[in-house]
Amino acid sequence: MKLLPKITIIFLLTLMVFLSTFSYLAIKNEKASILSILKKEGTLILHTISSVSSNYLDEQNFSELNIFLITVIENYDNLAYLEVSKDNELISRINKDAILNDNLLIFKEKVTVLKKYVGDIEIGLSQKEYDKIIDKNIKEYIILVLSLFVFLFIVLIYIVKHFFLSYINKLKTHMELIGSGEYHESLKISTSDEFEELSNSINDMSKHINESYINLQQLTMIQDKQKKDLEEANKSKDDFLANMSHELKTPLNSINIISSVMTKNKDNKLEEEHVKNLKIINSCGNDLLCLINDVLDVSKLEAKEVSLNYETIDFYKMMYEIKDMIEPQVLQKNLIFEFDCNLDIDFIYSDKNRIKQVLKNFLSNSLKFVEEGKIKLAAKDEDENIRIYVEDNGIGIPEDRLEKIFERFKQVDGSTTRKYGGTGLGLAICKEIIELLNGTIEVTSKINEGSTFSIVIPKNLEKVDKTAEVKEVEESFETLIEIENEEIDEYLENTNKKNILFLHDEPINYLNIIVELKIENNVTQVSSLLDLTTKIDTNNSFDLIIIDINKLDLEKLKEIMKNSNNRFIIIYNTDTKIDNEIENSASLCIDKTLSKEDIIKAIKGVYDE
Ligand code: ADP
Repeated sequence: MKLLPKITIIFLLTLMVFLSTFSYLAIKNEKASILSILKKEGTLILHTISSVSSNYLDEQNFSELNIFLITVIENYDNLAYLEVSKDNELISRINKDAILNDNLLIFKEKVTVLKKYVGDIEIGLSQKEYDKIIDKNIKEYIILVLSLFVFLFIVLIYIVKHFFLSYINKLKTHMELIGSGEYHESLKISTSDEFEELSNSINDMSKHINESYINLQQLTMIQDKQKKDLEEANKSKDDFLANMSHELKTPLNSINIISSVMTKNKDNKLEEEHVKNLKIINSCGNDLLCLINDVLDVSKLEAKEVSLNYETIDFYKMMYEIKDMIEPQVLQKNLIFEFDCNLDIDFIYSDKNRIKQVLKNFLSNSLKFVEEGKIKLAAKDEDENIRIYVEDNGIGIPEDRLEKIFERFKQVDGSTTRKYGGTGLGLAICKEIIELLNGTIEVTSKINEGSTFSIVIPKNLEKVDKTAEVKEVEESFETLIEIENEEIDEYLENTNKKNILFLHDEPINYLNIIVELKIENNVTQVSSLLDLTTKIDTNNSFDLIIIDINKLDLEKLKEIMKNSNNRFIIIYNTDTKIDNEIENSASLCIDKTLSKEDIIKAIKGVYDE
C-alpha cells in the first residue's frame, strides 16, 4: 500500500487547495464587486445630495436643506448619517441611530455653485446589508465545498474499497487454491506496493510448501516401503521364531523326557554323581523350554495372533488345579503355602489356560524370590470382577522398579538374572494376556517384606453357560471314563510292549527315533557287538534287534545273527557295501540316509508283522 495512499493524499490535498483557492478567490471577487456596487451607490447618493443641496447652501436656505436631507436619509436604508458643513463648521447633521455603529463607508464631496465653494457634504453608508450578502455567499460556498468533499470522499472510498477488494479476492482465491493442495500456481499482482510484496511472500510460501509436500511424499513413500520391509522382516522374524522354537523344542523335549527318565535310575546303573548331573540337565532343559515358550508367546502377542479360548470355568476347580501344581514345590522348599479361595462364586467366563498361565508365573516368581516364609494364593469377590492374588514375603521390589518389571526383558536389576535366573519376559506376557482378557494386573511390594501380584478380571457372569453345572457333571464322568480307559491302555501297553535291542554308536542321531520307539516299546541301547551278545545271552527275549552296522566287524555280526533266532533290522550307510549273507538273514535293511520318519515307519512295519 505505497502508491494508493500517496495518490489519494495528493489528490485530496490538491483538491482541498484547489477548492480553498477557488472559494477564496470567489469570495474575494464577490466582496470586491459588492464593494464597488456600494461605492457606486454612495457616489450616486453623494452626487444627488450635492446637486440638490448646492442651491440651498448657496441661498443659505438651511431649513429647506434640512427637510431635503431628512427625505434623503429616510429613502436610503443604508444611509447612516448625513452631514453638511462649511469651512469646517457644521451646518446640519442627520443620523440614523440604528445603523450608526455599523461598519460605515464614508463619502465626502465639496459642493460648488458655478465653481464657487459653498460647503462640504459627508455621508456614512452602512455595509451591514452587504456584509450579510457576503456572509450568505460564504456559507453557500462552504456548503458547496463541503458537499463536494463528502461526495469526493465517498467516491474515493468506493474506488479504494474496490481496489482493495479486487486484490483481497485475488489473494483469497489463491489461498483457497493453496488450501486445496494446488501449491504450484503462482499469484501475479504487480502493484509495486504491499499487495505485490504479500503476493511474492505467498508465492514463496507456496513454493516452500510445494517443496515440503514433495519431500513429504517422498518420505511417506520411503516410510511406506520401510513399513512394508519392517512388516516382512517382522513376519520373517515370527516365522523364524516359530520354526526355530519348533526345531528347538523337538530335541529339547527328548532331552527333558530322557533325562527325566534317566534320573529315576531304575536299574541303579548310574552313579549318584551322574544322576545329579542328569537332574541339572533336566532342570536346564525345562528352563530352556519355558524360555522358548515365552519367546513364542511374545512373538504371538506382537503379531496379535494370540487366540483366546473363552469358556465357562469352574472357579474353585481351576484354583485347586493351580494349588495342586504349586503346593508340592512350595513345601519342598520348606515354605508355608496358604490357600484362600472360598468364594461364593461357582463359575466365571474367561480363558482358563491363560489365567492359569499368569497365576503360575506369579507363583513361580514367588517361589524364586522367597527364601523362608509363606506364599499365599487367594481370591476376592469384587462385584463385577474377581481379584486373584499371589502374596509372598520374599525379597520385595523397590518402588521405582514396580512399573518397569512389566516391560519386556526388565528385571529389578542385573543381579536378579545372575542369582535367580529368568529373562524378564514373564510379567510382560502376563500383563498383555490379562489386558486381552479385559482385566488389569496390579502389584504392591515392599523391599525385604514381600510382594502381592493381583489380577482383576471380569467375571462375565452374563455369559456363563447356565448348563455349565450339568456339563461339569458330565465332564467328571467323561474324565472318569477317560482315566479308566487310560488305565486299561496302560495295562495293555505294558503287556503288549515289545522289547527292542538297539545297537548304535550315534546317540544324538538316533535320539528322535529312540524317543518315538520308547513310546510303545522297551528299548535297550548298546554300543558294541560285545554288549549286544551279552544282552542276547542274558535275556534272549528281544522281539527285535536293530543294528547300525557302521564300523562293525561284519564277520562277527554274521556269526551272531546265524546263532540267534531273533529278528534283525540292519541300518546301513549307502556307501558301505552290505554283505549278501547279512542281507538275507535280516528281516529288513534300511538305508540310513532315509528320513527319521521313514526309518521309524520301516521299523514299526517289521515289529507289527
Ligand atoms: P523373570 O522372572 O523371568 O525374570 P518376570 O517378568 O516374571 O521375569 O519378572 C520380572 C522381574 O520382576 C523379576 O526378575 C524380579 O526382579 C521381579 N519380580 C517378579 N516377581 C517377584 C516377586 N514375587 N518378588 C520379588 N521380585 C519379583
